[in-house]
Amino acid sequence: MDMKRFVGSLLVVLSALPALAWGPEGHRIIALVAYEYLTPKAVRQVDNVLGKNGMVYWSTWADEIRSDTVYPGSYDWHFQDLEAGMTDDEVASVLTDYPKQGGNLYRALDSLYLLLKNDKNNRDALRFYVHLSGDRYCPMHMGHISDKGGNTIKIKWFGTQTNLHRVWDEDLIRFRGYSVTEYAQLLLDMYGCERKAIEQASPEQLLINSYHITSAIYDYQKTWNGNVYNYVYHWKEPMERQLYTAGVRLAMILNDIYR
Ligand SMILES: [Zn+2]
Repeated sequence: MDMKRFVGSLLVVLSALPALAWGPEGHRIIALVAYEYLTPKAVRQVDNVLGKNGMVYWSTWADEIRSDTVYPGSYDWHFQDLEAGMTDDEVASVLTDYPKQGGNLYRALDSLYLLLKNDKNNRDALRFYVHLSGDRYCPMHMGHISDKGGNTIKIKWFGTQTNLHRVWDEDLIRFRGYSVTEYAQLLLDMYGCERKAIEQASPEQLLINSYHITSAIYDYQKTWNGNVYNYVYHWKEPMERQLYTAGVRLAMILNDIYR
């Protein structure tokens, strides 16, 4: 099946939700971590499809073309907002019973994976996959439907107006002040000891874990004193661990596809 038909089959009504999930830095950091963990054989093949280091350079493309007419249905492939208070079983079930509301991330990922399995040289499918497999670990990409994934929750960030969604897209990462290569290296150094456990976890476990983080973010919001330094200190590690996890899992899947 070609990409256009694939897109057609996923076509959904464009919504006005401004949810974007990880910003450009987040996606590049994830791609850099994953690239580090690719086997030499996978690096050769992925470079062959996307160009040298192309995985990193193209990791933000899916956001850039999000409102383009070439892939009109791709807008809500980037997130899957959920209801508050779901049980672990209910959360796990969204991986197979794709929800009808709140986004289309898991169906898109599954479809792209199958496309790549059948055609490793499908350039656009690979570009999408590299990007969306990062979005799935951004806690606010599975925020609540009622507040558009945190987009309607206003936050003052050092005097500038932002929102809970954007804090997790970009503000938290940018606050740290690292370049993307520095940040990727930091993650490899500091969280490398967790690689095995992350590889051994099931997709359901990882999804439930992300949902718990999202729930904790909402809870924290209720009692937060508005001090940005406190916020960063509290959430730095969970945020970094999600970025690192996304990199590890992306490498795992690409190593399997490009054996
Ligand atoms: Zn995205």
